[in-house]
Parts: sequence; structure tokens; C-alpha cells
Amino acid sequence: MKTEVISTVFDPELGANRGAQIILAGGLVAFPTETVYGLGANGLNPDAVRAIYAAKGRPTDNPSILHIAHKEQVKSLWRRVPDAAWKLMDTFWPGPLTLIAQRSDIVPDEVTGGLDTVAVRLPANRTAQLLIERAGVPIAAPSANMSGKPSPTCAGHVLHDMDGRIPLILDGGSCQYGVESTVLSLAGEPTILRPGAITREMLAAVIGEVRVAPSVLSPLKKGEVAASPGMKYKHYAPNAEVVVVSGTPEKAAKKIAELYCSLEMQGKKCEIAATEQTKDFYLEKKYVILGDRNYPETLCASLFASLREMDRRADCILAEGIPAEDAGMAYMNRLLRAAGFRMINV
Ligand code: AMP
Ligand code: MG
Repeated sequence: MKTEVISTVFDPELGANRGAQIILAGGLVAFPTETVYGLGANGLNPDAVRAIYAAKGRPTDNPSILHIAHKEQVKSLWRRVPDAAWKLMDTFWPGPLTLIAQRSDIVPDEVTGGLDTVAVRLPANRTAQLLIERAGVPIAAPSANMSGKPSPTCAGHVLHDMDGRIPLILDGGSCQYGVESTVLSLAGEPTILRPGAITREMLAAVIGEVRVAPSVLSPLKKGEVAASPGMKYKHYAPNAEVVVVSGTPEKAAKKIAELYCSLEMQGKKCEIAATEQTKDFYLEKKYVILGDRNYPETLCASLFASLREMDRRADCILAEGIPAEDAGMAYMNRLLRAAGFRMINV
């Protein structure tokens, strides 16, 4: 299959119309959102949704998010719209927040991995909105990467993973946030299953107490059931081994510099995920500056692209950990999974 790429940067019309045709014919279209690129199919067509899982190599019990163009569409997808959901939708939609509630009968099992709940989001990206609107159906879309790999934050990443596997990529440039949406379950006590740009604090200001699922920052214990099936798989991982070093900026950077030297002595090619605050500790070493430690959203925006870039050159990636609070929680959630939870505290 030849993979066509259409730019939507200056004019989303052509790409959205072509994409909608493909979606309605049961095909797959990769499209930009403000979080990461999604791999979309008609969310009401079981065969089309199955094709997403085949293209990504994604386990079929890991549910996908339904993307909609208008808030009112939730009424047909959820059995009942929780009161908290209306408040959250009014505050944060369109935007990087996914909400989970009991599903209605029109939602296929293929979307939910057999669960009786379904995740829904209204993205803020113009191309995404136009594509969903033109298709006229909810679009099921996980991230447009091969399963387990870092999520794509530009069309080039999607092409790298999906060339020849899908007919169309809409190229809307780099994604604004660079990490996936916050996933909040409203099926019981409001619980964050995946942290993102909309933080626990922002959600709590609107609906009161919000829990964070334990699996957000630690590996599942043996026998423990994942609240979010996506949490049980290896995730966001480059081929290179990733090690996280946490502590004060100075201590962490010194430890990383030390590890770098001993790994290079063993013949391993290393690279460092550095920050503005620590780059001077890494003179003469290979490093990429992800952003500013005081603004975790800058680290989030470049994390996946930097992991993919360093992965082309290095056997081992050494990354600084930051406090997993506020915006730092989304960053540490992705980084720890990329590292398979290999973390050193200094
Ligand atoms: P992705 O599509 O790659 O952004 O992944 C979607 C994430 O949302 C995965 O971690 C899923 O496990 C999670 N998710 C989607 N639907 C549900 C649901 N009904 N219940 C719990 N988690 C869900
Ligand atoms: Mg994903």
C-alpha cells in the first residue's frame, strides 16, 4: 500500500475531505491532534477499528479513545452523562482531556476492548476537528505509533512507523503538547488513569477531589488488575535502554555524568536527556536539551521526539527525573514507562 501525505498546515480542507472519504470507506487515516498524532478509523465500524489494531500491532484488549467534534455526541456514546462530565467538558473541551463513562449499545466491543465503559475526547486541533466533522462519525484513534514505541509528535514519526501500512497521513506539523491526553475515569470516584497537560489540580478546581491511579507512577504488582489496560504493557520505549536518575538537579547530573563515563568504557554509546539547568554538567558528552526543569510542559513537548532522535544513535539514554507533581506527573509517567521503571535515586 502506498502511504500518501497531505499537508494541512495552511489549508486543512483538502486533507480533511480526503481523510473523511477514507474513514467512511472503512480505512485508516493518521491525523494531528494537539497532544500526539492519532491513527483513526470509523469508531462505529468494528472491522475498521480492528484494522487499527492490526496496523499498530496493538493488543486488542487495550481500548481506544473515541474522538468527537461536538460535546452533544457524548449523549449517544455514554449510557448516562455524569454531572461532573458536563462541568469538565465546558471547562476543558476542546482540549487534552479524555473522559470515561459507561458506554451505550452503539459502541462496538472492538473500541472498548470488551469493557463496559468508553473513553471520549473532543480535540482542539483544527485538522482533527474538521476530519471528524466531515466524516460525521466518532473516530476511534489510539496514537499512530507501532505499539510500545514512543508516540509520534510529527508526521515524519508516523511515516517512519506506518509507511506502507496505511493509505493517508495528514501532516499538521508538530503537536503542541507532545504527550497524550489526561485520561479521567468518571465511572466511579473521579480517577486519573493517565496524567497529561490537564493536571489533577486543574480538574479538582472544577469537580472537587480527584484520585490518581497507583499504576500512574509505579509498575503493576503481580496479580493486580490494571484500571487502564494500556498501563500493563511496555510503553513509549525506544530500542535503547533508558535509565532515569532522580534527585536534586546537581546530584542527578553528576550521577548521570559518572554513569555515562562507565558505560562508554564498556563500549556502549550513551546520550543524555538534559535540561537547561544541567547542560553545563555534560560538557564533552552527547546530550539533547529537552527543556526547562521549572516548566515540565517544555520537557513533555520534546520528550518523544528526543527519545526517537537519540535512539538512532545511542545504546543507552540517561535521563533526569523531576518531581512527579503538577505538570511533572505526565512527564514522569511517560519517562518511567520508557525506562521500564529503571530509576536511580541520588
Ligand atoms: P492511546 O490511544 O494510545 O492514547 O491510549 C489510550 C489510553 O486510554 C490507554 O492507556 C487505554 O488503556 C486508556 N483507555 C481507553 N479507554 C479506556 C476505558 N474504557 N477504560 C480504561 N482505560 C481506557
Ligand atoms: Mg498510545
